[in-house]
Amino acid sequence: MGSVNSRGDRTEAQVVIMGLDSAGKTTLLYKLKGFKVVETLPTVGFNVEPLEAPGHLSLTLWDVGGQTKLRASWKDYLEGTDMLVYVLDSTDEARLPEAVAELREVLDNPNMVNIPFLVLANKQEAPDALPLPEIRGRLGLEMFQDRPWELRGCSALTGEGLQEALQSLQNLLKAHSPPSAEDGRAGSPD
Ligand code: GDP
Repeated sequence: MGSVNSRGDRTEAQVVIMGLDSAGKTTLLYKLKGFKVVETLPTVGFNVEPLEAPGHLSLTLWDVGGQTKLRASWKDYLEGTDMLVYVLDSTDEARLPEAVAELREVLDNPNMVNIPFLVLANKQEAPDALPLPEIRGRLGLEMFQDRPWELRGCSALTGEGLQEALQSLQNLLKAHSPPSAEDGRAGSPD
């Protein structure tokens, strides 16, 4: 569980989807065609599995923010994570600082070292949505140069940007795949 196996045509990856409550995580998942709920984890969220995606993704979804009790169990659930998708509500300027702080806390978790992440600025179709460049500035994520990451705008309501988001997700997962065993960089032949 949780390992990326990109050799051959079967890829398995454990993807964690997080964000403050009401960011749009549930809407997002149901909008993505071909996803179905396969298991529920009442205190954490639920796992869903794509039916038509290449390979296999185990998606776990949960809310962050103001739930210190839940945060204590992060380490159990983050172990083996291959990728983080962090959903932001682009219209919730008031809670953006909290959302950013939570994201940083997740990224700082020992289980998340070097784990790539995708930030989805959701609700971009709303008239009061903060534009992407502004969100990028507020995130201040340029300091996370230790891992690949991307920021994308989307609307879980209209579906806009979701295909691109899935593409980013797959690209980031590929970037995280271990190099092939024949890489030959392990030893220095003399
Ligand atoms: P979650 O708590 O992160 O799972 O958020 P939900 O998926 O339950 O969404 C919270 C609210 O935001 C609901 O009223 C959704 O209809 C709304 N919502 C979700 N995505 C969008 C979006 O892209 N645009 C707009 N305008 N509303 C959205």
